Amino acid sequence: MLFVSLSNSIHALDKSASPGEELLGQFEFRIELPPWVAEFLGRGPQVFATEEERMRLAIALARENVERQTGGPFGAAVFDEEGRLVAPGVNVVVTSNCSILHAEMVAIALAQKKLARYDIGDEGRSHYALVASTEPCAMCFGAIPWSGVTRLVCGARDEDARRIGFDEGPKLSDWHKALQKRGIRVTRDVLREEAVAVLDLYAGLGGPIYNAGRHG
Ligand SMILES: [Zn+2]
Repeated sequence: MLFVSLSNSIHALDKSASPGEELLGQFEFRIELPPWVAEFLGRGPQVFATEEERMRLAIALARENVERQTGGPFGAAVFDEEGRLVAPGVNVVVTSNCSILHAEMVAIALAQKKLARYDIGDEGRSHYALVASTEPCAMCFGAIPWSGVTRLVCGARDEDARRIGFDEGPKLSDWHKALQKRGIRVTRDVLREEAVAVLDLYAGLGGPIYNAGRHG
């Protein structure tokens, strides 16, 4: 199942539901990947031996998301130590009407749901990597330490995303060192040019730059 529902399973349209249950149903929060993702992943390998192979998947997810017009030019995935894909993520901010659904957040949430724990690393007993086609924005940077991953691999730099108009938020200039101090190993610039090409593709197609709160 490629989605996660973060509410009680309340059926708002169930005639037998009480008014309170109907109200709760209105606040259901669900993360749903675009339908093409399952088929796309089914065509590829399930184990990604090298860092480049893992990044190539994150970039391919970003590219497909742009070409199929299902979201922004960002892809991510969580892998276990053997390189098995635990959960994919693509940016679905616009299509889901939800500003927090960056690719990294989607991959983290789906991995947590799949592993059935909020701490992906299981209190240090396991090591998982988040691989992202672009360096994290301020929100995703903040979310990474709480997720329990112990490794972050990035493709494009955040200045690459800023260059096409995305607001990456107020992030520490030495954000990667801050993560490393917390025991999260960071690797940057993996297949950066391929990742940047997806950003440029999106900009060239006139994709929406959805920086709520910034006008002008
Ligand atoms: Zn982000």
